[in-house]
Amino acid sequence: MKRHVVVGGGPAGIFAIETMRTLAPADEISLISDEPAYSRMVLPYFMAGEIPEAHVFTGKDRYFERLEVTTLLKRVNRVDPARKTLTLADASTVPFDTLLIATGSSPVKVDFPGASGPGVSNLWTLADARAILSRIKGKKAKVVFVGAGFIGFIVLNALAKIGCDLQVVEVEPQILPRMLDRRAAALAAEWLAKKGIQCHVGVRATEIADRGGQKVVTLSDGRSLTCDLVVIAVGVRPNLDLVKDSGIRTNHGILVDDHLRTNVPDIYAAGDAAEGIDFSTGQPAVHAIQPTAVEHGRVAGANMAGRAVAYAGSLGMNILNVVKLQTASFGLWRGDGKETTVVENASRPVYRKLVWDEDRIVGAIFLGPAADVALLNDMGMVKGFLQTRTPLGEWKAYVQKNPMDIRRPYVASQAAVKLLDQTLLGGETGERGYRFRDAKPESNPTPAHTIFVSTKPSG
Ligand SMILES: Cc1cc2nc3c(=O)[nH]c(=O)nc-3n(C[C@H](O)[C@H](O)[C@H](O)COP(=O)(O)OP(=O)(O)OC[C@H]3O[C@@H](n4cnc5c(N)ncnc54)[C@H](O)[C@@H]3O)c2cc1C
Repeated sequence: MKRHVVVGGGPAGIFAIETMRTLAPADEISLISDEPAYSRMVLPYFMAGEIPEAHVFTGKDRYFERLEVTTLLKRVNRVDPARKTLTLADASTVPFDTLLIATGSSPVKVDFPGASGPGVSNLWTLADARAILSRIKGKKAKVVFVGAGFIGFIVLNALAKIGCDLQVVEVEPQILPRMLDRRAAALAAEWLAKKGIQCHVGVRATEIADRGGQKVVTLSDGRSLTCDLVVIAVGVRPNLDLVKDSGIRTNHGILVDDHLRTNVPDIYAAGDAAEGIDFSTGQPAVHAIQPTAVEHGRVAGANMAGRAVAYAGSLGMNILNVVKLQTASFGLWRGDGKETTVVENASRPVYRKLVWDEDRIVGAIFLGPAADVALLNDMGMVKGFLQTRTPLGEWKAYVQKNPMDIRRPYVASQAAVKLLDQTLLGGETGERGYRFRDAKPESNPTPAHTIFVSTKPSG
């Protein structure tokens, strides 16, 4: 019987635990995390008032009891690979046979005057979400975002839903620079401007001051923006403090191989903290997205439980609905000199870019009104082409001529059949732990439950 220890109760840690419990029912599993287990990705729904705070949590006491997982709400300060122990913030030590480091990442700090203190916040934790909501409660708050990246816009979208007045400041010449190319970003900025959201690009915030109970953000071009709240969202960085001087190799994140192993035997890393293989390039990369955290967690958990499972790498992807404009990018979307097929519509914000490597699609960007289902519903098929590396052969010319008709080549090339054959763990996926058959819902029914009940087929 082995003693597995997981540090970090985010999706990487939780999916590793569920996988280990399925594959190694008799082993000991402990989770050590400095926060209760919850999903950051769900925070925007909580902020927009669409779900209660209780729905943010992914594992409560009863869930861990069912999985027979010991939990410790503590911070881990150090990993000692030679002794196979962890040192916690209270100086106690915890031994392990196998260890998963799933400590996630933290927002990058900015250091200009006024960049911390009341009315200036990141949005990365539940505590940040609570602080922001209490600051803007009951008013049509004016909010300035410093940083126009993926996370910034997810939060912006939530605040738009509750009627905030929003502006964005971005040092790069375009918004969403790590998700959209120039043209798509310009279309998105135009859409936002029509909704009353100004994006100030190519400028830097240089100072935040307090004036009459409000915040004043000074920009590098001399302008200033007055608001109630400033949200700083300039990127995230993996949490690596605990492995400092441990001999565990790091670059941007903790370097892991195709089994999610670090360079030290029996120590694994997963999720935002890990720098694993990028599916498109075969090179190490930190992705800092939920799908990578989930896949890493499952693969690491399987290997810790004694199954030798190799991972093909994580597909870089961002999918974002910003004020009802749907945007998405996959794989090698930048193009970088590769052949591309681009569709644009002069009369509405529609943009599609497919990036080719010979007859394979290796990257894509989608943009269009979220309500326009017909324009966007083949996004998943293009993702399927990438994931299966399907050669389109003579269908390539068809797609180049008809880039809005992906369905025919998708069916003809049997990409879906290839997808069916792809399994992360080399076999059937077990039931997720929280869906125990005898379990009753832990929360009160919501209107959504009512809909499901009333639409249940009769008989
Ligand atoms: C508002 C918001 C919205 C997002 N939306 C999306 C989205 O739509 N799509 C998407 O793909 N991604 C999204 N993300 C990103 C996604 O949430 C992260 O990629 C994901 O949470 C990473 O999972 P993880 O398990 O690696 O780390 P985390 O979820 O960060 O969990 C790590 C845990 O480890 C704890 N920890 C860290 N250091 C220690 C230590 N030394 N000792 C003990 N515990 C420690 C942390 O406090 C944390 O609880 C969003 C993020 C935010 C903040």
